[in-house]
Amino acid sequence: MNPNQTICLCRVCGSDANYIFDGEVLGKYVVKYYECNECGYIQTEEPYWLEHAYRQSITPSDTGIMLRNQYNARLVLATLYILNNLDGSIVDYAGGYGILVRLLRDYGVDALWSDRYSKNLLASGFEYASGPAHLVTAFEAFEHFIEPSQELKSLLKISPNVLLSTELVANQTPAHDAWWYYGSEHGQHIGFFRTKTLEKMAAQNGKKLITDGRSYHLFTDQDVDLWKWRVTRKLVSFMPGLISRRLKSKVWSDHLHFSEKDVRTKMDANDDTSF
Ligand SMILES: [Zn+2]
Repeated sequence: MNPNQTICLCRVCGSDANYIFDGEVLGKYVVKYYECNECGYIQTEEPYWLEHAYRQSITPSDTGIMLRNQYNARLVLATLYILNNLDGSIVDYAGGYGILVRLLRDYGVDALWSDRYSKNLLASGFEYASGPAHLVTAFEAFEHFIEPSQELKSLLKISPNVLLSTELVANQTPAHDAWWYYGSEHGQHIGFFRTKTLEKMAAQNGKKLITDGRSYHLFTDQDVDLWKWRVTRKLVSFMPGLISRRLKSKVWSDHLHFSEKDVRTKMDANDDTSF
């Protein structure tokens, strides 16, 4: 990319994006930021610093990770309920260490883990391989994607419903040092959305967009009532038992799954040495 370039193509909709400012990332890279005229997406220049940014897949400054996962698990319960698919299967895309998948399975949700870059520490044995699911979740992932439209397309091949979280940019674009979500200390956030960006992505895929206008967004074919979703989310965030009591926790069945696997492995080992 020409270092003096003042226009580039939007990585969401392909329209012209204008240079808006430079921002320092990881204390050493001076990065150009662009804003799309059409969909309002803000993107960095081609991110050449990601290898440095991902030396740790989860950043030490992310102190809210556990509380957020607890909240997200309850949000997934509420969303499955609203989609009339409480027993439905879920793929947690970019699932990190597997915290959310384990929490969901504890509630009784048939959740599987997927992540190209992170180790699965807490949901080992429950990796997604292939096939359809009722819901794909992608929490705090889209702001990391170089090509968000393509990523959404591939998630919609797994499920007609995609629930994601990303903080939306204010109408008045904040300066680089005035919004924490630019994430200059870790350098992993390279694209920032507005409601109209997400609407564009929904239109590209023939989907409806349901958004709380701030952090959580659902692409779906179904007619989801925003207020019903909001009220259910709020209720379930305080009282997850309202919904989870309709499910059977997988804590014990998952334990048995591994115990039986251990026994089978030992029996196989004994068979091999019995000659
Ligand atoms: Zn655009």
